[in-house]
Amino acid sequence: MFGSSFRVARIFGIDIEIHPSWFLILAFVAYSLSEGFFPDGYENWSTGVYWAVGVTSALLLFLTVLIHELAHALVAKRRGLDVPRITLFIFGGVSHLGRQPSSAGEEFQIAAAGPATSLVIAIATGLGALLLRGTNEQVEAVLFYLAFVNAALAVFNILPGFPLDGGRVLRSIAWKKTGSFRRATRVASGVGEVFGYGLLAVGFFLLLGGLLFDGLWLMFIGWFLLGAARGEAANLQLEGVLKGLSAREVMRADFPSVVPGSPLQSIVDDIMVGQGERAVMVANGGAVLGILTVSDVRAIPRDEWRGTPAQTAMTPRERIVTVIATTPAVEVLVLLGEKRLNQVPVLDDGRMIGMITRREILERLQLAETLTPDAGSASAAG
Ligand SMILES: [Zn+2]
Repeated sequence: MFGSSFRVARIFGIDIEIHPSWFLILAFVAYSLSEGFFPDGYENWSTGVYWAVGVTSALLLFLTVLIHELAHALVAKRRGLDVPRITLFIFGGVSHLGRQPSSAGEEFQIAAAGPATSLVIAIATGLGALLLRGTNEQVEAVLFYLAFVNAALAVFNILPGFPLDGGRVLRSIAWKKTGSFRRATRVASGVGEVFGYGLLAVGFFLLLGGLLFDGLWLMFIGWFLLGAARGEAANLQLEGVLKGLSAREVMRADFPSVVPGSPLQSIVDDIMVGQGERAVMVANGGAVLGILTVSDVRAIPRDEWRGTPAQTAMTPRERIVTVIATTPAVEVLVLLGEKRLNQVPVLDDGRMIGMITRREILERLQLAETLTPDAGSASAAG
């Protein structure tokens, strides 16, 4: 869902990205502060002042959300996890970790850093508001708002539903207790689903009671939590099955190959339709020139298949996305998804030694699911 985000800054080696939905919520917060919250709390400001304070507060709110995310990210980095980016979006922020935490303690520290930071910000801005009482009403108003909203953020985030920070804290505790990351994730994503359904239900009742906006907003958050909790359970299953496997171990070394001059028609007849292959390597002796896929073939009109050699229709080697043999299988699967590829060749020392297809990885996952009881019950929870 963060596909269309764009980068605005780079802090501590982490890309800070903004998703377009962020502008919606920023505009909404600025509007409701300027037209509702501040006019209700403070009298006799001009419209311009309400808006200046409202917009400033909305921007500072998102700055504190960013600090919350940076807290997660910096603790993660200190523990040796890669944090390529932080995305700000309609529900706040999310830190993208390069891998799952490797111990319960690590997960606990990373998860707890966020709400703890929000709490510290709430206390600091709250004290600031008290100290400045009676000097500058606008500064006091901004600080008071930040204290209030950061306290709310800290509380909301420690709700024990996955993927909220509280859900991660819950998972780290369950992990410590059971010694199993998988079982702990199942517990935390199960609770996350319950929270998701709960918010959907509460939102629906508010909606029926005439609180249209609050109702829809809660349902929206509930729906988001539900999807995220299920996604985490599904990811876990993938990681569990592929854990420890490299590209070399999930690739096929006996991939079909053709010479550059083979006509498309015979490749379609013999290999694609004949053997059910979606791609063939085009090679001359030991040298791989490219890959010919079903979509490459479909780009050529059917009546030209007989006269077109493989070399003309193939995707040449320099335009193919490849992975090296030691790449973890989980990363290969992520790559296939991100680039919308059906297959990716595997290189060793610059030589193509095999091919990984999405279909085969998925079949392998399904097989593992039917054979291992642990993975099977994980799918029941998610
Ligand atoms: Zn957080």
